[in-house]
Amino acid sequence: MYQHQTVSLNNIDLPVGKVVCVGQNYHDHIQEMGSIVNDEPVLFMKPSTALHDLLKPFSVPENQGDCHNEAEIAVLIHKPLKNAAANDVMDAVWGYGIGLDLTLREVQQSLKKLGRPWEIAKAFDGSAPVSPFIEKSQFSDPQNISFSLLVNDDTRQQGNSKLMVHSITKLLSTISQHFTLLPGDIVLTGTPAGVGPLIVGDELELSITNHKFNTKVIKAAD
Ligand code: ZN
Repeated sequence: MYQHQTVSLNNIDLPVGKVVCVGQNYHDHIQEMGSIVNDEPVLFMKPSTALHDLLKPFSVPENQGDCHNEAEIAVLIHKPLKNAAANDVMDAVWGYGIGLDLTLREVQQSLKKLGRPWEIAKAFDGSAPVSPFIEKSQFSDPQNISFSLLVNDDTRQQGNSKLMVHSITKLLSTISQHFTLLPGDIVLTGTPAGVGPLIVGDELELSITNHKFNTKVIKAAD
């Protein structure tokens, strides 16, 4: 079972909640998807059953077309946030990690064409592997956090929160107008360019600032 943990691999005493995700929050990814910049954040959710410990190998759904990596900064919440102003949200942040918003891209494209919700393409079991979390006191500026994803030693994604369309404070404030954030919830803050298919055997290295986490794609158990 997934449990939030620190980089020293101690459990964090918070429940495991929902994951609120942000789409189209980096210009280079908006461009690669042929999407447009939105004035307000694009929001969707994954249930707690989507969470998976990134340090453990994970599998991607079979026979449903390409499953894409989307490496994203993950924000762990430890205080409730409802209708919060941007100035007030940082007190509710426990810390930051890195996660994958795994996406069945072909399923998502056909759902988009049909005008249907995305959940089965994005919110399936295990669709949100997340790393251990680093306390926010370790970050001097949340809008200058670098992160990357290497697949089989090749850099596939490289980002920095300074390139976000909507800042972390704006995201948390906007989310809290729609969905109350509770202790133990996670926010995935959007992906930069470089999304692409993951296959069994891929070795991944995800990094956030100077922390590196390694994992692997394995065949699903029957
Ligand atoms: Zn994403």
